[in-house]
Order: sequence, then C-alpha cells, then structure tokens
Amino acid sequence: MTIDLSKISESNFTDYFKNEVDCHQYLAAQRWQGYMICPHKGCNSDRVWVFKDGIRYKCCKCKRKYKATTGTIFESSKMRLSEWFRVIIKLIEHPNGIASTTLGRNLRITQKTAWFMTTRLRYAMAQIDDGQPLTGIVQIDQGHLGGLNKNRHFDKKIKYIQNNIDPNYKDKLIFQAMLEENGKIRVLEIPNEEALTIHDCTIQNVDRNALLYTDSSTGYNLMHYAFKNMESVNHKAKQYMNGNCTTNSVEGFWSYVKRHETSHIWISKKYRHLYMQEASARYNMRQMHFQAKFDTVLKATTGRLMYKDLKGQHRIAA
Ligand SMILES: [Zn+2]
Repeated sequence: MTIDLSKISESNFTDYFKNEVDCHQYLAAQRWQGYMICPHKGCNSDRVWVFKDGIRYKCCKCKRKYKATTGTIFESSKMRLSEWFRVIIKLIEHPNGIASTTLGRNLRITQKTAWFMTTRLRYAMAQIDDGQPLTGIVQIDQGHLGGLNKNRHFDKKIKYIQNNIDPNYKDKLIFQAMLEENGKIRVLEIPNEEALTIHDCTIQNVDRNALLYTDSSTGYNLMHYAFKNMESVNHKAKQYMNGNCTTNSVEGFWSYVKRHETSHIWISKKYRHLYMQEASARYNMRQMHFQAKFDTVLKATTGRLMYKDLKGQHRIAA
C-alpha cells in the first residue's frame, strides 16, 4: 500500500490504520519497498503466493508461510499490528516521550502491556542510527544520569563516601554524547570517565579528520594522539566560547534528556540506556515530518528481538 500521508494531520493519522490488512500492507511496503524477499533464513526468494486475506504469503521456493511481521519485533506478539501502530504514533507525537501508565490509559491497555510494547519500540529506535563515523565538527560531552542521593528514602540515603564513590554518583550512569554540527547525535553509555575510555569511545564513533570541540576536562588528555583537529573551552574559567569552539549544543542535549525523563514516573537503571536511545532518536528526527518519523521507526523494527537483547544493547562503548 503506497499512500501519501504527508498532508494528513497528526490527529487523523491513526484513522488510516484501523484496519489490520492496511497495517500489514503498509508495513510490507515500508519493509520491502516493492521487492518482496522471503524472510526465512537462507531463502531470499522473491517469488511468492499471496493469500486471500492480504496478510499472509507463501514462499514458492521454501514453501513456508510468512507475514510482513515475520522477522520483526512484532513477530509472535499477541497484540494486533494496528495496536502496535497506535503505540508508535503516540510515542512519536509526544515531544518529550510518554509514560507507560499514560499510554495504557490513553489506549485502554494495561500498563504492563504498554511498557512491554514501548520498551521494544525504544530498542527499535536505537537501531535507526547507522553507526557510521560522525564527521565535520563534532561536539563531545559526558553526562551523569540517574537519581540524586537527597531524593532517596531516608533509610536508604547514603551518608558517607564508600569505596571512593560519591553518594550522589552511586546510582548514576555515565553517557558520552557526540553531536555533529547540523547533524545527528550519538549517545553511548560508558563505564567511567577515564581518558582511555573516552578516547576509545570517540575513535570508534568519530572520523579521525573531524574537528572536535570539547571542554577542558582531563578526560580528553589522550585525544590528541588520534585527532589532529581539536579545540576546547575552559568552563572553569567561565569560558563558553573560544573563537568558534563551543560545547553549548551538546550540553543542551542533556537538558532535552532531563525534560524527556520528567515524562516518566520512574526509570530503571537497567533500562535507562533504552530511554537514552529513544531521546537521541527523537532528537535526530526532530526536523522530520510526522510520516517520515513513523516510517523511520517502522523500518527499524526489522530484526527479531529477544529479552536478553534489551539489556545488552548500546550499553558499554569501550
Ligand atoms: Zn522462502
């Protein structure tokens, strides 16, 4: 089904996906772009019989049946595809994300189901980034995300520094954000802020000919070995611009993430990296039209997802 939804308002977008057959055909069109390939392992045949229901197909070569959802995060789901589409629409129409409790209420599904679906869609959003090295001018910064010690319940508050870990940082995770000027952002969780970790994370994700803009943290001490072009601003001396060099844009991303996090009642440390991937995907799609966002998320749903994958992806960069 090749329909142009670009002139349709966001509020009417859902109306076009009430019918299950339309949803399957729309997914098939996005996934295969008119050239259908059998998704069964080792087959790759393009010859297919279409069932009368318009949803199921049978491969002429391997004789196995499949649907547009085969080999995607929707495979084996008890929820109908039209319900998944409604969740995707809700997820992208809210600029700061949406909590599973609110989503459950809006769509009349349980919070547990809403969480199950959004977690898988967050994983899909993490796959939107093609992983190519960032080029041009790249701003780099690290951020700590997680709860504050002062907000812990009084009998869980940590009163002293234990094992050299500041109580305020005990439950925080460290992320490194790398932002191309007028381009995309990539955010990865890093285990610490040591110079070698930051160096390794940067060389894995940024082109060696890029011009780096950083602050004057000692974490960047090893960077000049890999990058010839590098400038910094000294925040300790209250310097926020040094010629053209600034890290204001990448620091602005942390405010964006915090705004994003306020939409949620509680974010588990175990899944925080997925919320971060959702925020960065949303940031990268901010200039797109609604349908382009929808199609981008839909294309990223290819690939069967196991529970163990949810915990491991995009966590440790170095
Ligand atoms: Zn086949």
